[in-house]
Amino acid sequence: MDKCSFCGRDKKDTNLLIAGISGHICDSCIEQAHDIIKEESKVNSDLNLNELKLLKPTEIKTFLDQYVIGQDAAKKYLSVAVYNHYKRLLQEEDEEEIEIEKSNIILVGETGTGKTLLARTIAKMLHVPFTIVDATVLTEAGYVGEDIESILTRLLQASDYDVEAAEKGIVFIDEIDKIARKSDNPSITRDVSGEGVQQGLLKLLEGSIINVPPQGGRKHPDQKMIPVNTKNVLFICGGAFDGIQRKIAQRLNTAVVGFNASKVAEKVDQENFLQYIAPQDLKSFGLIPEIIGRLPVLTYLEPLDREALRNILTEPKNSIIKQYNKLFSIDDIELTFDETALEYIVDKALEYKLGARGLRSICEAIMMDAMFELPTSDEKSVTIDAEYAASKLEKTNMKHLRIA
Ligand code: ADP
Repeated sequence: MDKCSFCGRDKKDTNLLIAGISGHICDSCIEQAHDIIKEESKVNSDLNLNELKLLKPTEIKTFLDQYVIGQDAAKKYLSVAVYNHYKRLLQEEDEEEIEIEKSNIILVGETGTGKTLLARTIAKMLHVPFTIVDATVLTEAGYVGEDIESILTRLLQASDYDVEAAEKGIVFIDEIDKIARKSDNPSITRDVSGEGVQQGLLKLLEGSIINVPPQGGRKHPDQKMIPVNTKNVLFICGGAFDGIQRKIAQRLNTAVVGFNASKVAEKVDQENFLQYIAPQDLKSFGLIPEIIGRLPVLTYLEPLDREALRNILTEPKNSIIKQYNKLFSIDDIELTFDETALEYIVDKALEYKLGARGLRSICEAIMMDAMFELPTSDEKSVTIDAEYAASKLEKTNMKHLRIA
């Protein structure tokens, strides 16, 4: 008589007995085994989640390297800040006495150098809700524009109104430099989109419970508010801070006078003052000291040079060129950009001062005809060279690209 090799039941006592090479298994043992597997894989995936949160700074940087070219200084600062942020979250559960302060971040660098991309990539790595808000649309309560609370409305929307998830999310506030104080004397005129907004942001940045209108806007004064605690929300601010280089240069020059002046001055890299940025430069630009104090991690992004632009085309995990390859491969077409084409695209981005953002619009203009025609043709492989690229791009109005 056949028996289950696991529980020993006779065949007649089971619903089903499956024969293996040298044994048998009954339906109820299969079910039990299935439950064990399910339970085990759940434990494993929980483990992964914890491991992910505890990625070490160098590992975070390695992750960022896959998506963002260059910007080593910013990556290093961000990695440490994010690591400390999540350490802080874990520590809170231990209720230890020394409270680690929040490490909100401010990124200074020209537009299109990767500030948003860095913040977005961090959020992707952590699997936390992420939202981008533009500081220029914010105004003091009661004025035309968006209330400060709308930032959290967006975060709630990004987390599908899961408040607990939103409270551990990341908010990227773009163009923070645009809410700098317009004049040194705050009393001259009402400054509804400058200092007032900075004041409003304070409570968000430092962490407090904010009543958030779930749909945003002010149209429904009696909509039910959702309280959101921003204590563990990580704020990353970004801005171009046009002209701040001059302020840094001024400070460095005054600082070196009288103190071993010649030696310090020699060391200063005159090309890129941004690397010396310090909190007082943000203050002379018009951010109020309270805001600066709540953005303790300050770092900078470098302008992208030729080599960086060239690498952006092909190196990131989801680079523009890889995306085109993928698009064409769906139609079984092998697409190749030869080196001359890549150099040509970079040349044009530099010539028209389009930066990294322009790379995509240039590629779109070059690829439009191919994307239109190839899916219905018999071609199975296409190579784009500089000549082809130029012939397509010349037909495009570059002025149009510049706005894009
Ligand atoms: P910023 O926020 O600094 O204005 P973004 O991060 O939005 O600029 O960059 C615009 C686009 O340019 C990005 O979506 C990305 O495709 C590309 N890009 C910019 N900088 C980099 C970089 N350092 N590495 C890879 N891609 C970049």
